[in-house]
Amino acid sequence: MEDCLFCKIIHKEINSNIVFENDNVLIFKDISPQAPVHLLAVPKKHISSILEIEKLDSDIIKELMEAIARVALEMGLDKEGFRVVTNTGRGAGQSVDHLHFHIMGKRKFNWPPG
Ligand code: 5GP
Ligand code: ZN
Repeated sequence: MEDCLFCKIIHKEINSNIVFENDNVLIFKDISPQAPVHLLAVPKKHISSILEIEKLDSDIIKELMEAIARVALEMGLDKEGFRVVTNTGRGAGQSVDHLHFHIMGKRKFNWPPG
């Protein structure tokens, strides 16, 4: 997708601070962190949101979830708990239309979120 910010990050046309990468998944630091650890986990395939996931994507989504868990464990986020969030639609705060999961940790989180 030509005008997609996260596709540009995936293709290294825009710099990011990468913490995990394999053939299907990229995890990088959020440019405007809302927690001491704030990462974004994306499939390399352009999928606009959770609503656009297709049956064919099931292996990619599984890999994405496994990578999130692996990075969370590697960074020790499991000790205090951490949050994984995907905003869907403008009303929920989605500003980039490429499926991404926020991984946030190392601070206290409230429930329900604001
Ligand atoms: P959303 O608002 O769609 O749920 O999340 C988009 C996230 O992308 C935001 O947390 C924002 O800080 C992050 N972001 C926006 N532009 C960039 C960028 O150029 N680089 C990185 N690493 N993160 C970005
Ligand atoms: Zn994209």
